[in-house]
Amino acid sequence: MKFPKLRIVMVGTSHPGNIGAAARAMKNMGIGRLYLVEPREFPSPEASARASGADDILATATVCDTLDEALTGCSLVFGASARLRTIPWPLLNARQCGEEAVAHPGEVAIVFGREHSGLSNEELERCNYLVHIPTDEAFSSLNVAAAIQVVSYEVMMASGSAPVEATQRDEPASAEDVERLYAHLEETLVELDFLDPDHPRKLMRRLRRLFNRSALEATEVNILRGILTAAQKAARSD
Ligand code: SAH
Repeated sequence: MKFPKLRIVMVGTSHPGNIGAAARAMKNMGIGRLYLVEPREFPSPEASARASGADDILATATVCDTLDEALTGCSLVFGASARLRTIPWPLLNARQCGEEAVAHPGEVAIVFGREHSGLSNEELERCNYLVHIPTDEAFSSLNVAAAIQVVSYEVMMASGSAPVEATQRDEPASAEDVERLYAHLEETLVELDFLDPDHPRKLMRRLRRLFNRSALEATEVNILRGILTAAQKAARSD
């Protein structure tokens, strides 16, 4: 569990499948603590089915009678709302919420509302901030588990632990190596009668532009040089 001080609170969830989907979304993003305030049905086979592998989150979920109980010990509380300006309250978007949640030194709760009616004004007033996931204005309400997915993803991204570049890159080619490649390329193109040195037009400039766009690596320059040498050999043996 990456975020031991962060809890997700679901209030009055009516579909147990949403609880399972939320557990899965949380576990994907390294968030392990789930609090359920008055769920209509829990535990439930439907919740377990939708959790698909995140059963441990369901097994350790805390069921509470009141929101206050679920917020015990928290010094920062966010309330996720599908509607903008439900109450005039400090408002953050999901990205800002992720950043604030990760930066906070104490216990943090992010609270999500009922499928049909969201969070009541009274519940929202228990929160330090409202959190809104930007959407098309005409259709702003996400499924509650989808909303938990988006906010949990932002927590993960804000923590800086997401890999920035998945593919391993080789060492970039040096400017000298690239210059030698261009010289070799030009020489080969002349030998192949593709480039007329008396009327070069803009061919070399275009090829430079093409290769410069691709951030050549040292091994790639070696491969291209090898191909040019093979082409020269073939042309000379004709
Ligand atoms: N009809 C309800 C929508 C509830 S959706 C209403 O208008 O309030 C269930 C819960 O998912 C919401 O209470 C909220 O916590 C979360 N949610 C859905 N869409 C959201 C959005 N765009 N931004 C933030 N939270 C959202």
